Amino acid sequence: MTIGVLGLQGDFREHLHILEQLGIAGRDVRNPQALEEVEGLIIPGGESTALARLLDNSGLFEPIRQRGHRGFPLFGTCAGMILLAKRASPALGRSLGLIDIDVARNAYGRQIESFEAELEVNSIGRVQAVFIRAPQVIRLGPEVQVLADYQGQPVVARQSNVLVASFHPELSGETRLHEYFAQMIVERAHS
Ligand code: GLN
Repeated sequence: MTIGVLGLQGDFREHLHILEQLGIAGRDVRNPQALEEVEGLIIPGGESTALARLLDNSGLFEPIRQRGHRGFPLFGTCAGMILLAKRASPALGRSLGLIDIDVARNAYGRQIESFEAELEVNSIGRVQAVFIRAPQVIRLGPEVQVLADYQGQPVVARQSNVLVASFHPELSGETRLHEYFAQMIVERAHS
């Protein structure tokens, strides 16, 4: 199994490092050709407006959207979650719209208001979460399963092949969400 990490902007190296720790092959994906060579894709944290623009310029926006609709596993953290949502506020140029949630960007305040919290994630256990200018879910579609919340707000959610977290598991050395995502890929291969 090879898991791709969108390598256009943001903290993709940290995600690759977690995959390496898990002994899973990872590769950075910067063009449509590379996307064909991976079994799932992680969209990292970064700056969602910049990422949206780079997705367009690299020709990756449409291939990711189409694959996502066909069941290709995707995992978005922070800015990655914003890109995967139906709608973001303030809006991005384009959203992938692959998970039925709307999000408010920077809802926990500025960089200086970043914080860490320990969360209980369904079927994963306790994880250390780093929130940096994190988005908040402001609408949750009926098909979306909440795997964790923080102060009553969903912070990990899944809709079939799409997993999102509003924080950065990759920055606390947390490996279990990546392990869970790898399991989603294995299950898809067997289905
Ligand atoms: N606030 C950022 C945005 O709207 C996301 C921050 C992050 O990925 N850490 O793009």
